[in-house]
Amino acid sequence: MSRKKIVALGGDGVGPEVMQVTCHILETAGLDLEILKPLCGMEAFKAQGNAFPDEAKRLCEESDAILFGAAEGPSVVILVYLRWLMDNYVNLRPVKYYPGAFSPLKNPEGIDFLLIRENSEGMYPGREGDIPWLAKKLQDYRDPFGRTLDFYGEGKFAIRLITQKGTDRIARYAVELARERRSQGFAGKVTCVTKSNVLRQSCGFFQKTVEKAVKKTTEIGYEHFHVDDAARRLIRFPRDFDVIVTSNMFGDILADEAGEMVGGLGIAPSACLGGRKPYFEPVHGSAPDIAGKGVANPTAMILSAKMMLDHLGMKEEAQALEKAVAKVYREGKHLTADQGGKTDTKEFGEAVLKKI
Ligand code: ATP
Repeated sequence: MSRKKIVALGGDGVGPEVMQVTCHILETAGLDLEILKPLCGMEAFKAQGNAFPDEAKRLCEESDAILFGAAEGPSVVILVYLRWLMDNYVNLRPVKYYPGAFSPLKNPEGIDFLLIRENSEGMYPGREGDIPWLAKKLQDYRDPFGRTLDFYGEGKFAIRLITQKGTDRIARYAVELARERRSQGFAGKVTCVTKSNVLRQSCGFFQKTVEKAVKKTTEIGYEHFHVDDAARRLIRFPRDFDVIVTSNMFGDILADEAGEMVGGLGIAPSACLGGRKPYFEPVHGSAPDIAGKGVANPTAMILSAKMMLDHLGMKEEAQALEKAVAKVYREGKHLTADQGGKTDTKEFGEAVLKKI
């Protein structure tokens, strides 16, 4: 296998802190990776007036995979590039409990499922405007009460797009993943989450498209829940899930809830796939309240790197990294503040390295 080229973009907020520790682990553990760290984020913005300079973009386009920390302010352009301009339409968020992690649930043992969030459409990116403007454009439109948009006067609207292409491809991905999980000894079940009882056309279309994709195979199980019911079931029956697939905003919200169930945002990793180059980032954002203090939990970033190794076919290395993290949690001696410990970001990284 040829040496893989990785681009590490810390971004802003806690991004650079958790990225530095993660790269240190990958480099010190001697993995066969070339890790490039171009200037980006606020530092690049101050130096060059651009948070995502052309050089960083070029390296990303030439890479095998990208690690991304977090975006804030001007560095949001990095996220826009990686997610939308590279068309990474799958946001894969594993929800797995590592014994020793600080879960608010009484019994989080055995929670292990995947949440797939459609990453390219739905309510994001925001397509919004003034209601009077839309009312002029859509004079023939009537809502379920027979009202024109003029009726509502001043205010704002947001447009939600659920396209054939976008839904077909995420449905296919969910089905494939459930089949793969089944071959690994998991249930092999797709849970589709919508609000099709209210959003009959857009969510109804999403649901039907997933159902069609599921029907093409006999090997996997299937169920559908409305998003409010799914939010409740996640907490009540977390071990019943295997592969959840949902639209962009529902996925965004449910993933934070699910992440909290297994120990919080400091632990939850994600992968963004399907586009020109895959990128891997923590579920958490820039965490401005703790940024610069050196106390952020780097687990989400480290486990995102683990997902990257898996994606690159470096299965053994991925497993070794995950096992090391799991051991640190099981021992409970080196945990960060969000997990009830006193270890700082760098010390946590050292503890993981010692276990590899
Ligand atoms: P975004 O809108 O970018 O998703 P957010 O507003 O949801 O961001 P986060 O940055 O994800 O906010 O942070 C939410 C909370 O979780 C904050 O209190 C933050 O300190 C905490 N948090 C986030 N990341 C970590 C981390 N790596 N370690 C510890 N705590 C974290």
